[in-house]
Amino acid sequence: MRWDNLTADSGAPGDSEHSRADVALFGADAVTTRTFDTPEFRGITFHEVRARSIINRVPGASRMPFEWTVNPYRGCTHACVYCFARKTHSYLDLDTGLGFDSQIVVKVNAPELLRRQLASRRWRGEHIAMGTNVDCYQRAEGRYRLMPGILAALRDQANPFSILTKGTLILRDLDLLTQAAEVTDVGISVSVGFVDPELWRTVEPGTPAPERRLDVVRALGERGIGCGVLMAPVIPFLSDHPAQLRATVRAIAEAGATSVTPLTLHLRPGAREWFMAWLGRHHPHLVRRYERLYAEGAYAPKWYQRRITRQVHDLAREYGIGPARAGMPRRIHPPEPDTAAPHPASTSEPVQLTLL
Ligand code: SF4
Repeated sequence: MRWDNLTADSGAPGDSEHSRADVALFGADAVTTRTFDTPEFRGITFHEVRARSIINRVPGASRMPFEWTVNPYRGCTHACVYCFARKTHSYLDLDTGLGFDSQIVVKVNAPELLRRQLASRRWRGEHIAMGTNVDCYQRAEGRYRLMPGILAALRDQANPFSILTKGTLILRDLDLLTQAAEVTDVGISVSVGFVDPELWRTVEPGTPAPERRLDVVRALGERGIGCGVLMAPVIPFLSDHPAQLRATVRAIAEAGATSVTPLTLHLRPGAREWFMAWLGRHHPHLVRRYERLYAEGAYAPKWYQRRITRQVHDLAREYGIGPARAGMPRRIHPPEPDTAAPHPASTSEPVQLTLL
């Protein structure tokens, strides 16, 4: 594994200790590899590292809704077949298929490092986005418990932040989230692309069921923390039937989501090969249709994306999903796929929006 290939940007703008884009994030000797013989973690290898920097600057941030991210993990046991963060595993010489699902990098010092970097005089208290590369509430978080320390550090500095997740584990930290929301701007989004149980079991095999994720939306709402839903991905020919869109938007509305933002599946290198192999196994009759729909590259044609967006917005209006009320935490607006930043330069830690 090319641990010495991992690099990071500065935790505080201009911080000379960390601002060189080519500073190695981990030394090879800082990696401890662990496995746990419990049913939950069987077959999963954890690579514990001590990161040198934890706040990453998003390359091309001017086109992003945020500039800074914190990602305590790399790889994701939620194992969504379509996950386009898969590609980032190749920068570690790790496999982007099964390896992405089962070889998890854990930045074990993330909480203490974040607290230190937030306290730096050079840090200007800007918004920090989490869950933008891989899910910070994936199963590993149940064991490593990095998020409570991270949330406490953000709360103590009253630093605004947002989280995008598929993990119900976020409810463990409800008290911390509530405390943080009392002192700063907190935005939470949950990702629910569809509510079809069969599709969920095969395409998002490691995630909590969509209904359980919607329970998160409900629970946050009961605490006064508005929660949006990123309806992602809408999967062509598998979750885009009008009846499926309706069932999903209705369930999102019933959960009390403050917003719904649809996003059509995109298939970047790394995800594309893995997804198409899955499609061939589970829905072979769709392979040719996908090859045609994604013939131009990673994105479905604009007419298709617009159609989905219009349908979902119409349904959202029908079911009364509205913008966040005054005084509620701000919503997260993910970028339109065709305006997303290009892949980060190889000299900075890979930061991608997986749009969970
Ligand atoms: S899409 Fe999100 S939850 Fe799914 S594997 Fe990727 S990072 Fe994890």
